[in-house]
Amino acid sequence: MNEPHRTRVAPGRWQGVEVLEYKQDGSAPFRDVTRQVLFEDPALACQLRYFEIAPGGHTTLERHGHVHAVMVVRGHGTCLVGDDVFDIGEHDLVQVPPSTWHQFRAPADVALGFLCLVNAERDRPQLPDAGDLAALRRDPTRAAFIRV
Ligand code: MN
Repeated sequence: MNEPHRTRVAPGRWQGVEVLEYKQDGSAPFRDVTRQVLFEDPALACQLRYFEIAPGGHTTLERHGHVHAVMVVRGHGTCLVGDDVFDIGEHDLVQVPPSTWHQFRAPADVALGFLCLVNAERDRPQLPDAGDLAALRRDPTRAAFIRV
């Protein structure tokens, strides 16, 4: 893990980096997402992860106190951040503020890969309850976008 240089062996794959389940506990809804931890040196106090959503897949709709700093590095897709849905493409930047609903989706025909920087110590994500979902669905664009 702390090799000074790890080559990319395929698109979105690196030497010695394990491809992990997106979430382990199975309690949060998502579809076709993998997770790789690229950098996690304790001295950094943060982690840089690479997530890849297969075509048609999506991350969990969630919010939490910690922040995400995201750069798309492969493919394209769509994301919800707070009130708005954005089309995102290669090298676009996405910032998710604290306590803000967010979800990422890949289109039907292309994978979406992105780097995501987070604090090493962070709170657990919260899932929407019925009231949260009703509020999110008040806007037709958000209603059409979200997957739970
Ligand atoms: Mn999140």
